[in-house]
Amino acid sequence: MTWQAERRANGVATILITEQELQRRIYELGKTLDGRYAGRVPLMVGVLNGAVAFMTDLMRAMTIPVEIDFMAVSSYGNSTKSTGVVRILKDLNNEIAGRDVLVVEDIVDSGLTLQYLLDVLQTRSPASVEVVALLRKVKPDAVPVRVDLVGFDIPDEFVIGYGLDYAGRYRNLPYVAILDPAAIKEEVAAGV
Ligand code: IMP
Repeated sequence: MTWQAERRANGVATILITEQELQRRIYELGKTLDGRYAGRVPLMVGVLNGAVAFMTDLMRAMTIPVEIDFMAVSSYGNSTKSTGVVRILKDLNNEIAGRDVLVVEDIVDSGLTLQYLLDVLQTRSPASVEVVALLRKVKPDAVPVRVDLVGFDIPDEFVIGYGLDYAGRYRNLPYVAILDPAAIKEEVAAGV
């Protein structure tokens, strides 16, 4: 099987951001964050499951001391559209009062999930809350939500890989790709 055929079989239509581009940008983000948080120990809050790949690479691109924690929220179910209904599936292990919290997000699409998370975190009296998102979709109707650092602005397409899933799959791809619409149709037809 050629690599093109293999990718198609995997549901990948087009590679949007290569592994090298991801790693180069994440290194830059790490250096920027080192500067911003110099002399402080931020609590990096990864949003499960999508931010796992980004979080682990980003924290290793940083040289200042950091602590990490995770929250899990559900926003989409098995659909490719945000419903706006967010549920906390796993809360933080740490108290965040007085802490410098750095929310690490995989992707900001409608902005609804992030807005909800920020509202929840703000009620807990942190010293500061900032957001770093690997990807942000360029769409006019998104909620105007705070994002302090963005890895890449991308077109309004459903993407997979590097932590991002469709119906629970594709998170282990080392690049970010546009999902082949045929993969959605096949799964719907198969009742997945
Ligand atoms: P939002 O609430 O619409 O901003 O969506 C945020 C969450 O939806 C992200 O943290 C992702 O988990 C998921 N999401 C949004 N867009 C995509 C996508 O293109 N591919 C995979 N997951 C996505």
